[in-house]
Amino acid sequence: MRQHALEAGLGEAVIINTCAVTSEAVRGARQAIRRAAKDNPGAAILVTGCAAQIDPGAFAAMPEVTRVIGNHEKMQAETWAPLELLGGEEKVRVNDIMSVRETAAHLIDGMDGRARAYVQVQNGCDHRCTFCIIPYGRGNSRSVPAGEVVAQVRRLVETGHHEVVLTGVDLTSWGADLPGAPQLGNLVQRILKLVPELRQLRISSIDAIEMDRALIEAMGEARVAPYLHLSLQHGDDLILKRMKRRHGRDAAIQLTDHLRRVRPDIALGADIIAGFPTETDAQFENSIRLVEDCSLSFLHVFPYSPRPGTPAAKMPQVARTVIKERAARLRTAGEAALIRHFARHVGEVREALVERGASARLADFTQVTLSDAGLEAGRTYPVRLTGHDGKQLLGAPLT
Ligand code: SF4
Repeated sequence: MRQHALEAGLGEAVIINTCAVTSEAVRGARQAIRRAAKDNPGAAILVTGCAAQIDPGAFAAMPEVTRVIGNHEKMQAETWAPLELLGGEEKVRVNDIMSVRETAAHLIDGMDGRARAYVQVQNGCDHRCTFCIIPYGRGNSRSVPAGEVVAQVRRLVETGHHEVVLTGVDLTSWGADLPGAPQLGNLVQRILKLVPELRQLRISSIDAIEMDRALIEAMGEARVAPYLHLSLQHGDDLILKRMKRRHGRDAAIQLTDHLRRVRPDIALGADIIAGFPTETDAQFENSIRLVEDCSLSFLHVFPYSPRPGTPAAKMPQVARTVIKERAARLRTAGEAALIRHFARHVGEVREALVERGASARLADFTQVTLSDAGLEAGRTYPVRLTGHDGKQLLGAPLT
């Protein structure tokens, strides 16, 4: 988007890319718009992203907003042509995302400098989990053909990136809409084979239960980062059913055991929602227990918030105070799990990829603060892990 806007001569405009995953995210977006207008008097304020796609009228009604741009339109150069974009009175430039059937690979290589680049290989989602608003912002699932992905990865490696991350809204759906319906595991194996210079391939967040056999096998490959973030959401079968998830508690535990057999050094993270409608104390305890039962190291806790228009918003709600308490308890369980994870690393010597300054990461995505901030970003160094501060590991480079 930045590139399109710059090429169209909109260098002074402010682009706000909104998120709709929680009501808090939408509130934050509205706040950011007001702040941007105050800090940049006279600049065009262009609002896009999922919250804008889902409720364009609400953003168009804000006097600070110049134009509201749809999620599909935002990736197309023609949208940003100043006459097209700023001409006329109509503030909303948002089309029906459900009619979008194709996606192009979008290269995002500016986030972590040379250390890591992201390739979006899939967009949208065909599932309709009862709490989730995302499909209404992103549309149905669509995949980038394998040949295009391989070409992108090759280009990123040629420009000096150490690691490539495959991303998508529902990554394990990759391929279902392509000829022959290949699976994500095929794509991963193909990248490893066709781009032998790629040093590390990372898979971002996935729907645990939809991992295909080739993907599980690929997790055993040294060049695939030993880390997965699983979309588990809950630890109780009845709640999982009410969420319309496609797995049960036992399946999640079996899968994590299996992954650990394939890749003993794997670190696992997960999303868990606290206080889903109808959740009882006992059902919540099943989520707490899941942290240990699946040996999770990184926990991303979402206090449930109803998203208007989703089935869960109409279910009997848990009191806000209870949701808050449960989220806090889950976060405490997550902090304890992280400290156990750190403790397993302390004393080891591991390769760490320098992101910038003193900040680095191990292959399993654990953050490390180095005692030397002068190392080259985008390179790996052997590091002795000397301790942790509760938030990250501390390490001394052996150079
Ligand atoms: S699979 Fe993920 S993105 Fe799709 S509806 Fe469920 S939670 Fe939302």
